[in-house]
Amino acid sequence: MAQARRATSIIATVGPAVESDDKLDRLIAAGASVLRINASHGDRAAHDAWITRIRDAEARAGRPVGILMDLPGPKLRLTGLDGAPRTLDVGDTITLGDDTNAVDLQVTIPGLLTCLSPGHRVLIDDGAVRLLVEDVDDGQATCRVMTAGIVSQGKGVNLPDSDPPLQVPTDTDFDMARWAISRGADFLAMSFVGNADQLRALRGVFPAGEGQPVLIAKIERPVALDHLEAIVREADAVMVARGDLGVEMEIATVPVAQRQILATTRRLGRPCIVATQMLQSMIEVPSPTRAEAGDVSTAIRDGADAVMLSGETSIGDWPDLAVSTMARIAAVTEANTPPEDDFPPDEGLDPEEAALCEATWSTLTRVGADALLCRSRHGIWGMRMSRARLGLPILVVTDRAPAARRMTLLRGVLPILVDELPERPKRFMGLTADALRTALGSTDRATIVAFRATDADTDEPTVHLSVRKLEA
Ligand code: PEP
Repeated sequence: MAQARRATSIIATVGPAVESDDKLDRLIAAGASVLRINASHGDRAAHDAWITRIRDAEARAGRPVGILMDLPGPKLRLTGLDGAPRTLDVGDTITLGDDTNAVDLQVTIPGLLTCLSPGHRVLIDDGAVRLLVEDVDDGQATCRVMTAGIVSQGKGVNLPDSDPPLQVPTDTDFDMARWAISRGADFLAMSFVGNADQLRALRGVFPAGEGQPVLIAKIERPVALDHLEAIVREADAVMVARGDLGVEMEIATVPVAQRQILATTRRLGRPCIVATQMLQSMIEVPSPTRAEAGDVSTAIRDGADAVMLSGETSIGDWPDLAVSTMARIAAVTEANTPPEDDFPPDEGLDPEEAALCEATWSTLTRVGADALLCRSRHGIWGMRMSRARLGLPILVVTDRAPAARRMTLLRGVLPILVDELPERPKRFMGLTADALRTALGSTDRATIVAFRATDADTDEPTVHLSVRKLEA
């Protein structure tokens, strides 16, 4: 089979580094297919401006670009330090409380003291500063500074040994989700998920029918790993959010957790994103470390649909270079990853649907196809075939812009938006010939399996398969 174009999706976080139209255009041209707004930063006006800017850039690029709104969740933060950072030295004694106490450091969570006990760790600023709780009485927790540093207003706090009474989703998450949906966000990422009920609660604000975004569960707390199977089943997609996970868990266990999450999502047929610090050094310098290149490659080898950039593109000095570097690593990794031998068993599919996927997969393999062309209004069959890691491009033709945008996360899938969805394979091959040639590179003659799915148009799963030749 011919080698596909780079199949892994790249998510780039927007921020001050790409605020001009030109820089945003370069990010997309370099290969970003989903742009992430980290809603922990900025207010509604700023988020609104980003959505407008991204949609304008999408129109200029002439291809679908997904928008991922990353909801803040109940991130604990330091307060009461307004304008006065404080230096903590090893061995210092510090008092901690919620914002009603007269203490050295306040943390934004009512009931903080009820979940702290002697021996618990308090990690500030992603673990840069570490405290150990020595005593808790009804007014404050007394802590010893174990790792020194400067703490300031708003810095994040993690309590890896405690079970703080977190409200997930928060009222802000509900409100922001409603607003983001009304503004056409394609993906909503829910932070600090601990169980599947919390995902169901957020889904409760989704509109009925077609306006539903893809709900992404961010796995960033150890408790989520205890309920991983149920969370993955309830989510539409999953993110390995290694930033907080690496603070909440012993760092040595994070790579194993990543592989466990990837294996579970592959088994249950949910797209998976690997996020955070992938090319971290590119925030400052124009090339990654060998270890970072290896990290991206490993995530892709292990089956990730998407790899994500955070600070590299939002505040870094080399945003579009970070994306093109990631794209190059992805292309080389994929070219050296053999396609899978079988259609993966999919516990998330009905037996009838699984049989149709396997029939398509078997046709592709037996005719040595170079591409799969799929007419799929809602993109559902594109998602199903994406799971198979075919090593060939899956072009999915749809007449729905939201469906095209939601496919931007899927590995190997190239969404093609058309004004009117043609019925006959000949017509939709004609419409997509240019995109096919670009996806296939320099082939004189290619074998295409064309696939017309009925998606949600009927109750009965149906696909129509035909084998076609594309001449140069
Ligand atoms: C993470 O923790 O890795 C993450 C992606 O979330 P955030 O950037 O919101 O901390």
